[in-house]
Amino acid sequence: MNDQLHGFYRSTFTDPSGVKHTIATTQFENCDARRAFPCWDEPAFKATYQVNLTVPSHLAAYSNSPISSDIDLGNGQRTVSFTPTMKMSTYLVAFIIGPFEETEAIDVDGVPLRIVCPIGNAHLTAHALEAGEFGLRFFAEYFDIPYPGDKMDMVAIPDFMQGAMENLGCITYRMPDLLIDPATASVAEMERVAHVVLHELAHMWFGDLVTMEWWQGIWLNEAFATFMQVLSQDAFRPQWEMWTAFGASRDLALDIDGLHSTRSVEYEVVSPADTQGMFGHLTYEKGAAILRMLEQYLGAETYRDGIRNYLRKHSYANTVTTDLWDAIEEVSGQPVRDVMNTWILQGGYPLVTLQDGVISQIPFAYGPESGESAIGTSWKVPVTTRSLKGGTASVHLLEENAISIDDDPPVVLNAGGSGYFRSRYGVKEAAALADHIDELEAIERAVLLSDSWALLLSSQISAEQFFTIAGGLGDQDEPTPWGTLATAVNYINRALPDEQRTGFLERVRAIFGPQFARLGWEARPGEHELTPQLRALVLATLGTVCRDEAIRSEALRRFDDNDVSGNLANAILRVVSSQDRPGDYETFLERYRNAVTPQDEQRYLRGLWGFSEERAALDAAEKSFSEFRNQDASTMFGLLTSNATTGPLVWRYMASRWDDVLKLPPNTLSYVTRGLPTFINDAALADEVEAFHASHPLPGEQKEVQQNVERMRVGLNFAVAMREQFQ
Ligand SMILES: [Zn+2]
Repeated sequence: MNDQLHGFYRSTFTDPSGVKHTIATTQFENCDARRAFPCWDEPAFKATYQVNLTVPSHLAAYSNSPISSDIDLGNGQRTVSFTPTMKMSTYLVAFIIGPFEETEAIDVDGVPLRIVCPIGNAHLTAHALEAGEFGLRFFAEYFDIPYPGDKMDMVAIPDFMQGAMENLGCITYRMPDLLIDPATASVAEMERVAHVVLHELAHMWFGDLVTMEWWQGIWLNEAFATFMQVLSQDAFRPQWEMWTAFGASRDLALDIDGLHSTRSVEYEVVSPADTQGMFGHLTYEKGAAILRMLEQYLGAETYRDGIRNYLRKHSYANTVTTDLWDAIEEVSGQPVRDVMNTWILQGGYPLVTLQDGVISQIPFAYGPESGESAIGTSWKVPVTTRSLKGGTASVHLLEENAISIDDDPPVVLNAGGSGYFRSRYGVKEAAALADHIDELEAIERAVLLSDSWALLLSSQISAEQFFTIAGGLGDQDEPTPWGTLATAVNYINRALPDEQRTGFLERVRAIFGPQFARLGWEARPGEHELTPQLRALVLATLGTVCRDEAIRSEALRRFDDNDVSGNLANAILRVVSSQDRPGDYETFLERYRNAVTPQDEQRYLRGLWGFSEERAALDAAEKSFSEFRNQDASTMFGLLTSNATTGPLVWRYMASRWDDVLKLPPNTLSYVTRGLPTFINDAALADEVEAFHASHPLPGEQKEVQQNVERMRVGLNFAVAMREQFQ
């Protein structure tokens, strides 16, 4: 058994009484079932599996189906046998052995649902159980097909590479993605648990019951699960406004997809490395976004009927992507295959412009092309427009030729916010809209801010224009557009030398200051569940970018009193670490080591990136190779290299230990380069970084490395523009 988090592997944990334990568990996607047993290890070879495990008597054992017999061998061991599974692919087989505890099974319309966790954690299961029960019912109803397995165990594993894995009836999870204490967690952390649970449950139908023929279809598997996760989560907790929040996730894809080093969503897969390259934002978030765009274009019911048609037709079998388009086309009578091919077979997306009553498209790019570009030329774009004067929205299918529209100004492009493109308004149209930003729907405001930020980053509008639009947010409590604004503010702040910051900081104070005056530190009775997220953004921005003294000292006071939980926790830790007070780095480490919830453990670990002292940065980098769980190592390097002061130092340290980087668990290695887009002030460093990564490729993940390098180049140009604009 290895500790590389794939195949049949070893995971360890220490229980609340300080005793160390070992777990044996599996992770087979994509092609690691063959590490555990001989098999035709490709998704098209479906079979039934009957698992027998001979294990030490005191340990629990789990697999995809219920236990059929449990025989004591009299020698300290027992043999646990499981009933045969349904017909399915090898990558969905699982078996797990260890000192676990289980929750009492909940009967969900005949399906027993439990959570299985390392002993000492059962009190952290209520939220995931509630989401699980909701999801099983929601999906059986939406797909109009009963859950295909015999039981559902959701199992928390202390060492785990991804968020979770959709093994039929035996889903495995990273600890913080399943176990949570609602009393001390933030809404974002609660959202995350529900998100992962619902995503995995959607796979039981889409992925497990109907499976891609070959790995080039994996994008659709993940895109669809992501789409269903947002749809079901929106029903689970309407107050979380999940489609608006999804706008922020979609931006992760738009950010990459506006680079010349993007890729098409679907491409030919030959080797395991090709498959590995498919797991990323362009699969999950772009994939889900174009499905949402299709759903809104066809109508939710027609789309759902198409999905039902597809799942019924292909149950227990395998499919290619076009099977889905054909099934939806059959139900809708619309040219689904033609439209979708323009989105999945070429990279990039359009910039849709409204000027003088005409809409048209050109490809969007963050910077000029140098060499090859994977960005396509034109798309079949469903564009919804709406007049703010009232009346119904109109839907257009924009192709190569421009279209005239007759909505009364002011008009909003991408009405309803489900289009996967950037919007731009002519001077007249922008002016007409500017005074009515408060009349937009929340999701449209989020899209407007996000599109404006993309136009600023690509030097297509000025900082002045950007801040004018941002000023239109007024007292709106929605955290999504404010999050975009905070990102922009942090990036501009990095671009400017101290002596050029005065005017910029005045601007930031003028926008965020009144929000702090309005929101303060304490929740007001009856406020919206998402308002604390805005409060956290405001505190973090004023406390770090503007170095507001009152906020900085209150953050320290709360930290010293160990009053750090809930929605403000991460903001407090960020403001504390930015002050580099002697001893605080050690306190973070100590609280990480003694954390009582997985969320606390992660927030103190990840929070280490904020310290700007060389000694602390190098210590955290070294511990990423030694003390910290190897599941967290690549993420930690991505974070530590993002520190404005010590990032380059950590990058050089990492580069000097590249052989050790290559020994980290595969599949998420490229995360070590996620800090590169913050290297925006030093052209010589950028050259050094680019040359190093070109000569030290990461197998299967070099595409994401190239994208992070290109983002660094975009950032360097942006920084030059900002230094010119904030004289
Ligand atoms: Zn998935």
